[in-house]
Amino acid sequence: MPDLAGPNLDQFYRDLNQQFFAGALPPVQVRWSTRMTRAAGIYYGQRGCIALSRPLLLNKPEALISTLLHEMIHVWCHRVQDRPQEGHGAMFRAKMREINAAQAQIQVTLRHQFNTQALARYQAYCDHCGRSRLYHRRCKGLACGACSRQAGKRWSQQFLLTWIPL
Ligand SMILES: [Zn+2]
Ligand SMILES: [Zn+2]
Repeated sequence: MPDLAGPNLDQFYRDLNQQFFAGALPPVQVRWSTRMTRAAGIYYGQRGCIALSRPLLLNKPEALISTLLHEMIHVWCHRVQDRPQEGHGAMFRAKMREINAAQAQIQVTLRHQFNTQALARYQAYCDHCGRSRLYHRRCKGLACGACSRQAGKRWSQQFLLTWIPL
């Protein structure tokens, strides 16, 4: 078995379920993903499981719990409130505010901002419009989407991004 040492995710799920959802959430499998780096966490409603990004969250207990709680609000909307299409709608945000108001240590956010930036190793820069975005790996041949669209194209060599290692 690969090394999956770290916090017991099922235990976290059970504890947070009691603390913030009055134990109303159904059991959902929570697992690490070793490859997921674009998002810190994902709730797969169809399969009924939550994946958490190991590269982004291991050894970051506050980010881990914040992310897990975010995904658990999705479970709550979907399975307890029967609103599978809720997304980050009003019901989601109301529950998020309730959790944030109930304690001061962990703040749940709509996006998991803390991660993508922390892991970025490159900045891709468009010389044409000056926009830049952070990436964790270099993607050859990537062109600025905004500039390409403005020129009525999906991709244009003219707007190839410049990569700056961070
Ligand atoms: Zn979400
Ligand atoms: Zn551009």
